[in-house]
Amino acid sequence: MKEYLGNPKNTIEIIQKYEFMFQKKFGQNFLIDTHVLEKIINAAGVTKDDCVLEIGPGIGTMTQYLAENARQVVAVEIDRNLIPILGETLAAWDNVTIINEDILKVDIRELADRYNGGRPIKVVANLPYYITTPIIMGLFESGVPIDNITVMVQKEVADRMKEGPGSKDYGALSLAVQYYARPEIVANVPPNCFIPRPNVGSAVIRLTRHTDPPVTVRDEKLMFKLIRASFNQRRKTLQNGLNNAPELPFSKEKVAAAIARMGLPASVRGEALTLSQFAELSDILGES
Ligand code: SAM
Repeated sequence: MKEYLGNPKNTIEIIQKYEFMFQKKFGQNFLIDTHVLEKIINAAGVTKDDCVLEIGPGIGTMTQYLAENARQVVAVEIDRNLIPILGETLAAWDNVTIINEDILKVDIRELADRYNGGRPIKVVANLPYYITTPIIMGLFESGVPIDNITVMVQKEVADRMKEGPGSKDYGALSLAVQYYARPEIVANVPPNCFIPRPNVGSAVIRLTRHTDPPVTVRDEKLMFKLIRASFNQRRKTLQNGLNNAPELPFSKEKVAAAIARMGLPASVRGEALTLSQFAELSDILGES
């Protein structure tokens, strides 16, 4: 019989049965609200054609919904104490593979090849908040074919992904996310939808992969180095930010000339530049 976990009673029962101890270091906050679970699955547009990668299945609450709606689910969970629990809670579904690994060490490209013949996968997760940025950046930078990433993150981080120049939340993450995808917040989720309750508000964000990037740039890696250097020293001018970054080889004169060629004042800060201006700057500085 299919016993769903998405409510406080069943979640507490399974946690007590296995004497499971929550580990703060793994960012464990389990979802206990069916409406939120349905919203996530609907926003991701999961269908029986899809192979879904779930990051951090926990006790399997969202995995059950995914297994019901997708063709195949591959779930990567770091905490080995959760593996026997998942064996029980997902026993009624034969389309789920659990991998006991750290998602940051998994070859996701290989997983997409193995389970979906290299076709685009969907990523759905209630992410562990301590590694949201490396997970999302890793997914994009790895070149794994992806349709969309629909994830629960800290509300503040979701806001940062959507912002443009002029907002205090605009930063390297906003630019990276917007280069690869179109971000949309699909739900705001209060702390009482989780056990234990997190100290912060959460939001579900859908990142729909662009077919073509919104700007063209000759050297993507150089552009992201420039972006990171500019925002590492937010209070500094763009000129100083780029000159103080050891990983960038450009002379003061070269940076000054590039900024002038773009028609920007010498005092401009990195946080004032749009994605296409960073692309232009990268192309100018990359000219030999
Ligand atoms: N999906 C479940 C839910 O919604 O109830 C659990 C979500 S909980 C916020 C995050 C999950 O990610 C936990 O199960 C945690 O153990 C797991 N996790 C944390 N760090 C991880 C990592 N590096 N790789 C894989 N899983 C990780």
